[in-house]
Amino acid sequence: MFDKILIANRGEIALRILRAAKELGIATVAVHSTADADAMHVKLADESVCIGPPAARDSYLNIPALLSACEITGADAIHPGYGFLSENARFAEILAEHNIGFIGPKAEHIRIMGDKIEAKRTALALGIPCVPGSEGGIDNDEQAIRVGREIGFPVLVKAAAGGGGRGMKVARTEADLLNALHTAKQEAKAAFGDDAVYLEKYLEKPRHIEIQILGDGKGNAIHLGERDCSLQRRHQKVLEESPSPALNAEQRAEIGEICAAAMRKLQYSGAGTIEFLYEDGRFYFIEMNTRIQVEHPVTEMITGIDLVNEQIRIAAGSPLSIAQEDVRFEGAAIECRVNAEHPATFRPSPGKIAYYHPPGGLGVRVDSAVYQGYTIPPNYDSLVGKLIVHGRNRTEALMRLRRALDEFIVDGIDTTLPLFRTLVRNSDVQNGEYDIHWLEKFLATGGMDGE
Ligand code: ADP
Repeated sequence: MFDKILIANRGEIALRILRAAKELGIATVAVHSTADADAMHVKLADESVCIGPPAARDSYLNIPALLSACEITGADAIHPGYGFLSENARFAEILAEHNIGFIGPKAEHIRIMGDKIEAKRTALALGIPCVPGSEGGIDNDEQAIRVGREIGFPVLVKAAAGGGGRGMKVARTEADLLNALHTAKQEAKAAFGDDAVYLEKYLEKPRHIEIQILGDGKGNAIHLGERDCSLQRRHQKVLEESPSPALNAEQRAEIGEICAAAMRKLQYSGAGTIEFLYEDGRFYFIEMNTRIQVEHPVTEMITGIDLVNEQIRIAAGSPLSIAQEDVRFEGAAIECRVNAEHPATFRPSPGKIAYYHPPGGLGVRVDSAVYQGYTIPPNYDSLVGKLIVHGRNRTEALMRLRRALDEFIVDGIDTTLPLFRTLVRNSDVQNGEYDIHWLEKFLATGGMDGE
């Protein structure tokens, strides 16, 4: 087992990793930018190192500074969290060259899944169902039109290097397609420095359902069920839940086993998420995330399995702590991503938290790194914290969420709490009747007017 872990991240996920490390008796090192000197992860870690100025590329993405921090503190492994360097295959290789453990999958698997064209090719070869689309990248206009006709309109142009919903363009007709192709290429080039794009059938009313998997790197892998992340804004998840209101136990076991079998074949190591769109009873792979995800607590709440603990143990060479037949799905869990943004306009609202009172009680979990008097810096993402509730069934979880949201006070900045208070009272949300476009439509038709 590792003696000391350096956490190459900030905010709530840095705290989440710190908690798992402490429970394993492992010492922790926090790193921080100058903008984060007062951050909670710095206060709670055993040691801390300032690694640079506020801009992420100079601090949280600064590989030489992270290596020096390991050297100074004697940390023998790095947990990258999510975002930042978590899906950087080269970073994983550099750590290996320096004899520092990387708490994540093998570099080759990060690399494959980081290129969405390669990821789809691999998924198909592993027996995972995919969205119909181009076999590889789209090189020219004629090919785009040909593939568009083959799969049928509407189609979606997607960036091979995509992430965060950027570089995606819908084309409803052949005339739209060339325009979409060129805009998507430009956007992808600007955002990712890579203009490779591919085509996919655009699904009109799918849900986003993803499967959590764990592999030991030696050919054992299990699945921990699904998360339904259909409530999205600008392709970004807003609220996630498990189990999905759309699946039954048989469907869960079937798609879960397809994913686990694929991960066994790949000899995948660590935690990962296989993301699907789900429409008319069928699953279509869209991508795999080779890291811990923001919404992982939803799975932890219904399985009782600590995913970060598993990541650390697997990276240290231990076998999985649990077999598939021992995984139990108990009750229902829902997560709200509370952001420092206006609840209707989504304008970012960094600044000082004048008063803070998180909810508590049975079945309530708040993963957050803020505190009263803390100033949310403008340099990073706007997540204030995640409110996760668990109930014996979905109805209980929704009632618990409603009362927890009413207890939650964050004064001094705008937050998206009022949006969630509205959503939890909405009948479509209560009935689980929503697809990936539901929230955008709700907002566009004045769902949050008056806020
Ligand atoms: P990113 O890596 O940028 O997040 P994803 O491939 O994970 O991109 O897709 C993000 C979201 O975009 C999905 O959750 C879904 O809402 C939408 N999306 C992606 N592919 C399709 C598709 N073929 N049809 C309809 N919507 C899609």
